[in-house]
Amino acid sequence: MKIKIRDYELTGRKKLAHGKGTRWCKRCGAFDGLICSYDLMLCRKCFREVAFSLGFRKYE
Ligand SMILES: [Zn+2]
Repeated sequence: MKIKIRDYELTGRKKLAHGKGTRWCKRCGAFDGLICSYDLMLCRKCFREVAFSLGFRKYE
């Protein structure tokens, strides 16, 4: 999976206090579908992939 760098220092992006662009997936850099609970900071996609290794069980 391609990882997009979102770090402010590396990209030179302007720091925003609110809104889109302030939080991103630690794993792939996606802005959409972020899961911030449990301090995960991962998107839904990555969460699904890492959830099992983190000890989360599927509850469908
Ligand atoms: Zn992701």
